[in-house]
Amino acid sequence: MSAPAETRRLAQPEVSVLGDALAAALAPDRVLDGEDIRRQHGTDESFHAPAPPDLVVYPLDVEEAARVVRVCAEHGAAIVPFGAGTSLEGHVAALRGGVSVDMSRMDAILRLSVDDMDVTVQAGVTRRQLDQKLRPEGVFFPVDPGANATIGGMVATGASGTTTVRYGAMRENVVSLLVVTADGSVVRTRSRARKSSAGYDLTRLFIGSEGTLGLVCEATLRLHPTPEAMAAAVCPFATLDGAVECVVAVLRLGIPVARIELADAAQIDAINRHDEMDHEVAPTLFLEFHGSQNEVEDQAAEVQEIALEHGASQFAWATDEAERRRLWHARHAAYDAARATRPGSQGLTTDVCVPLSRLAECLRETQADIDELGLPAPIVGHVGDGNFHTAVLLDPADPSEVERAEAFHERLVRRAIAMEGTCTGEHGVGYGKAAFLLEEHGADAVAMMRAIKHALDPADIFNPGKLADAAAAVPPA
Ligand SMILES: Cc1cc2nc3c(=O)[nH]c(=O)nc-3n(C[C@H](O)[C@H](O)[C@H](O)COP(=O)(O)OP(=O)(O)OC[C@H]3O[C@@H](n4cnc5c(N)ncnc54)[C@H](O)[C@@H]3O)c2cc1C
Repeated sequence: MSAPAETRRLAQPEVSVLGDALAAALAPDRVLDGEDIRRQHGTDESFHAPAPPDLVVYPLDVEEAARVVRVCAEHGAAIVPFGAGTSLEGHVAALRGGVSVDMSRMDAILRLSVDDMDVTVQAGVTRRQLDQKLRPEGVFFPVDPGANATIGGMVATGASGTTTVRYGAMRENVVSLLVVTADGSVVRTRSRARKSSAGYDLTRLFIGSEGTLGLVCEATLRLHPTPEAMAAAVCPFATLDGAVECVVAVLRLGIPVARIELADAAQIDAINRHDEMDHEVAPTLFLEFHGSQNEVEDQAAEVQEIALEHGASQFAWATDEAERRRLWHARHAAYDAARATRPGSQGLTTDVCVPLSRLAECLRETQADIDELGLPAPIVGHVGDGNFHTAVLLDPADPSEVERAEAFHERLVRRAIAMEGTCTGEHGVGYGKAAFLLEEHGADAVAMMRAIKHALDPADIFNPGKLADAAAAVPPA
């Protein structure tokens, strides 16, 4: 391959030449340039401005993915990897045009080993598809973001979910990756051994890299045995403080809750209306317990006692499978439920994460800020990890609402950073949180991230203008 040209926005005739080269490398019907498909691929689930790519391509395997990268590098075209497009920080916006590489047709489950407790999948497999394949085998993959994201996207954003408190996030559950790098090489980041001290941790370098270092084509994931027994509980509290203090006490006692999620009264009200449920409208913990029948009962009894001590008004159990699924389905649909309370609104979704000991204080100050804000902003959170979201429901056509919501978000992030927390517990940076990346890590750490990016992708092919590059472009305050 000739030396890569520096990535830049291509003129229309160059796009046409690039399209022909990609059609020759793949197949003409898997290189698309229609307006709708391009718009869809430059748009995510956030209120950040979209930016369509020039072309959308669909590789079927790692060899084709490598060919796409080589062709793009030769033509100086940017590559924006695309999973399911459910990210929330402008991640998939093609800021420099170029090619959206849609991984959705790389959706094969390549190898499942129940003995080794791992599975190897192509990057376009979605988390629900994987769940369906694993369920009959008595194993499961625990990371469950609210949307039906792809495994490649979840690797790229360092995703987590409701069970992270017990089983860890993507960082703890990815064994190894097969990636295509900027020069079109295919690199396996690590062996399939359950642990390894052999060299730099390239796997984790790619987790959270948001498509800026390479194309994740395959992932080997760690599995967990399906617990013998599971039970869920719903537990409304008199105050938000009481709910959070209960979480801290439960975790300090080492009770291995599988899920411990918070929704404030506004979010419960939204869930009740959206999912036809009738929960008490109060700050509420949703819990799940995994283990043997006896372990589950013991854990639940212990948590019930702690909850009642912290002002819970009841502790309602659900051991029935269908009821348990309905409950978690409603939790996963919290964002849709919130948006349905203000039709036509867009959500500015926040994602701070703080040390557990600061969580109650952070939530209290945020709640006071929401009261001042004058816009609906229900709170929901993976509180066992110190992570919570507010979805500020705004009219995107009203600049004053957007301005107020952004100012609220800035205060929230600064509050979290001052508490030794982070601007993003799980959604990532994209270009939406670039300024905060700089504030959180400082210029030296951002410079180190850029040095890594430059070493692996000198021509800036992969998702240009995102993450550390976006942070470095932020004008000084
Ligand atoms: C309702 C809702 C609830 C959500 N809940 C959660 C949650 O609980 N936890 C959580 O972590 N997130 C959550 N998210 C955010 C989102 O689902 C995650 O960020 C998810 O991991 C994105 O996956 P995706 O397949 O949609 O990726 P995309 O949005 O398509 O892409 C995201 C980023 O990854 C890159 N990328 C995608 N595929 C690849 C690949 N194969 N190789 C290299 N880079 C790639 C893209 O370039 C982009 O930068 C939620 C979003 C919504 C809309």
